[in-house]
Amino acid sequence: MLITCPYCGPRDVIEFTYQGDGNRERPDPASQNFEAWNAYVYDRLNPAGDHNEIWQHSGGCRTHLRVVRNTLTHEISSVAFMRGDHGRGDHGSAARRKAEDKS
Ligand SMILES: [Zn+2]
Repeated sequence: MLITCPYCGPRDVIEFTYQGDGNRERPDPASQNFEAWNAYVYDRLNPAGDHNEIWQHSGGCRTHLRVVRNTLTHEISSVAFMRGDHGRGDHGSAARRKAEDKS
């Protein structure tokens, strides 16, 4: 199975680490809704077809990716960065703004 990393291009799945189900939404950390936490921790979808998954290119650029994979054929129909359009959160631009503020 090949996953096309937006940075590195097509790479064998052995370079990637599965990070989990991409459909889960974490409850507010201050929430004491035990039913919501129980669902977040234990409930998983098991679709026969397209599934949203989180993968990390751990053997490459280490970027986290949102992948849509068909669980029957392993065909990948979509790969995108987890955050923003560059996948590295806002850390880079925040550091740049900080450096610009000092100049
Ligand atoms: Zn990569």
